[in-house]
Amino acid sequence: MNQNPLRILGIETSCDETAAAIYSTDGGVSSNVLFSQIDMHKRFGGVVPEIASRSHLEKIQGIINDALEQAHVTLDDIDVIAVTTKPGLPGSLLVGVCFAKALSWAKEKQIIGVNHLEAHIFSSCIENNVPFPHLCIAASGGHTSLYLVRDFGVYECIGQTRDDAAGEAFDKVAKMLDLPYPGGPEIEKLATEVGFKDFFSYPRSKHLALDLSFSGLKTAVLYDLVARNAYDLKTKKLLSDSLELKQQVASSLLVCVRDMLTTVIERALKQYPEIQAVTFVGGVACNKYLRQSLQDAASKYQKPFFAPAPKYCGDNGAMIAFVGHYKAQRQEFSDLFLDILH
Ligand code: AMP
Ligand code: MG
Repeated sequence: MNQNPLRILGIETSCDETAAAIYSTDGGVSSNVLFSQIDMHKRFGGVVPEIASRSHLEKIQGIINDALEQAHVTLDDIDVIAVTTKPGLPGSLLVGVCFAKALSWAKEKQIIGVNHLEAHIFSSCIENNVPFPHLCIAASGGHTSLYLVRDFGVYECIGQTRDDAAGEAFDKVAKMLDLPYPGGPEIEKLATEVGFKDFFSYPRSKHLALDLSFSGLKTAVLYDLVARNAYDLKTKKLLSDSLELKQQVASSLLVCVRDMLTTVIERALKQYPEIQAVTFVGGVACNKYLRQSLQDAASKYQKPFFAPAPKYCGDNGAMIAFVGHYKAQRQEFSDLFLDILH
């Protein structure tokens, strides 16, 4: 294992954020720069792949320059370039990977391809000393999975959603309620206003062992709104502008998602007594109520709980650089044949 200090440039363009960061093995994260395209996709109610890749192309050079500048380094000071190769939107991933390969070739730097999900899994370790093995709950707009994490880069998926992701459930219900995209923060805000009560008792998915399911929940919310004469299925329009109704739906939804997540955590902790800690990562981990609830579930079993700072929950370059550092220490380098989705 190479024990010399290493400085890594991390590049992330898998979806709708152009991100770059510098991480060094002796100083941690020294810059973490991000351009979010959310405002460009808002009016379409979701990410438009073509717009996303074009925007990455426009922004990537400036974002990398900013990351270097904020860390007070130049490309010459970088030892390794780490870049997301999968999963993600192909057109978006290609921008980051092609840019990273061009830099690697021109500046004769080592390059490492990083799996975006692995980067989320270890994002809780950027600022915390998390013991192994631990249980990681990764919840984002596209994925919701449970991992048994044995060491850096060594993990197995022990449960996952069978349909929609948790973030997707928030986004889709928010759309039904005429709330802006992304829906998660809006749902959290409305639920906070009414104190996280379970007004409508939506059905919880059961009997799925360590797996989850959120698509039935989304349908349950829809038909409950229809039954209240608050939603028209034909025109797909909300018929009510009652703030109280929106608050009650948001609150009931969040409580329901909490119950589903805490149920699988408790099952996993019983099934794998070797687990030393619980982590919560991904964009949904920005949710303060869920963070607290998952922490409570972990402490019931005397397990410490870790969630990354919000800036490391959503997509970011620091988590890519972080994976780059332990892969570089193990000499797990890629080469210029590096491709997306492999
Ligand atoms: P990611 O896919 O990791 O970029 O995360 C984006 C997803 O996280 C979207 O589905 C958001 O709705 C969700 N999200 C972001 N903030 C929150 C929050 N405060 N509560 C719940 N979900 C959230
Ligand atoms: Mg992500």
